[in-house]
Amino acid sequence: MSASKRVLVVGCGFAGATMARLLAEQVDYRVLLIDRRSHLAGNAYDYRDQNGITIHKYGSHIFHTKSRRVWQFISRFTNFNTYQHRVVAMVDGIEVPVPFNLESLRLCFPPTLADRLERQLLERFDYGVQVPVLDFMQCQDTDLRFLAQFVHDKIFRDYTSKQWGTPPEKTDAAVTARVPVRISRDSRYFTDPYQGIPSLGYTETVRRMIEHPNIELRLGTDYAEVRSEANSFSHIFYSGSIDEYFNYQLGELPYRSERIELEEYAFPYYQSRAVVNFPSDYDFTRIHEYKYYLNEQCPYTVIAKEYPEAFCRGKNERFYPIASESAGALYKAYTDLAQASPQLHFLGRLGDYRYYNMDDAIARAMQLFDELNHELMS
Ligand SMILES: Cc1cc2nc3c(=O)[nH]c(=O)nc-3n(C[C@H](O)[C@H](O)[C@H](O)COP(=O)(O)OP(=O)(O)OC[C@H]3O[C@@H](n4cnc5c(N)ncnc54)[C@H](O)[C@@H]3O)c2cc1C
Repeated sequence: MSASKRVLVVGCGFAGATMARLLAEQVDYRVLLIDRRSHLAGNAYDYRDQNGITIHKYGSHIFHTKSRRVWQFISRFTNFNTYQHRVVAMVDGIEVPVPFNLESLRLCFPPTLADRLERQLLERFDYGVQVPVLDFMQCQDTDLRFLAQFVHDKIFRDYTSKQWGTPPEKTDAAVTARVPVRISRDSRYFTDPYQGIPSLGYTETVRRMIEHPNIELRLGTDYAEVRSEANSFSHIFYSGSIDEYFNYQLGELPYRSERIELEEYAFPYYQSRAVVNFPSDYDFTRIHEYKYYLNEQCPYTVIAKEYPEAFCRGKNERFYPIASESAGALYKAYTDLAQASPQLHFLGRLGDYRYYNMDDAIARAMQLFDELNHELMS
């Protein structure tokens, strides 16, 4: 091994940063890491404002994973607190825990009805299971059907319409399947064994991840600016959008975007927790209050209202891939094009055109690195 081989990593989110670190550290490659933005950490970017509150620029980010390997890797670069995310939805003016669970049931209905519904739920489903809302809607029993309709109408339908800009029946099942009803009293949003907020913040965590003598970082640099040198790299790892890489020659992959509007207040707290969902009211889907994540104490607070909107190139950012058969086929056609360049590897949520959590983005980079390990070592 020698540090003579040069590779290019495009994008300095978790996927690109992980790949850069593994290449620099484990196979001694020289890495040029670029990002077109002026900051690190991709969509997980955070910064401290003038009041010492850590703002997540692209919306709340909570780290959670089932993977010990991913947790151990990221924990080399930061400590985590033991924050456990608990979200409520504002339903008819009441804060109801989501995912909807047996605690939510008690808050929404009078005790006798809640008792009856809970008994029937436990007769029908095993304790602890998660039932996708649309499967729950298939229940024939009158009481359970009533409950399913309630959850669908009050928590699921309008939120999904706002989020995706289409009614739930027109939204891909892969998305709707992610919205569960939970047959337990566990009110946490995530149930992964490892979760928390990096005490240093995400940006500093990524900065430490890429702090290595073999890594050269160039922010504010688009791939277009180094494309002419592409042949000088033994591999290119590209975590930008695959359709953009190919100059949209087969068409454009659809994405959903969001507008995040910040508001500052001269009082300590705005709401009861970090995230409150507004399924039916207003045009925003959620309000985030960032100071909860690191328990930052100050007389001010900052909230962010999250407005889903259509992705429009040049106007806003790609947030969520919009799953559909046609989008899947288009993505596949782009990966077929990529076959012609064995030294070119796509990764990350944009390169793979998949919704990834941060841990998935790290795990994907690890998996790709493992797959190529032999080749990289030779
Ligand atoms: C609103 C919202 C909330 C989220 N909340 C959570 C959460 O709570 N927990 C969680 O685990 N995950 C969350 N995620 C997902 C998380 O943001 C992603 O998993 C993570 O950002 C994926 O990392 P990545 O490296 O694949 O992509 P990105 O972070 O998007 O990084 C890709 C980078 O590539 C750069 N790039 C693209 N094209 C080019 C180019 N041509 N030239 C140079 N650079 C380029 C971009 O500027 C970007 O910085 C959330 C996402 C959103 C949208």
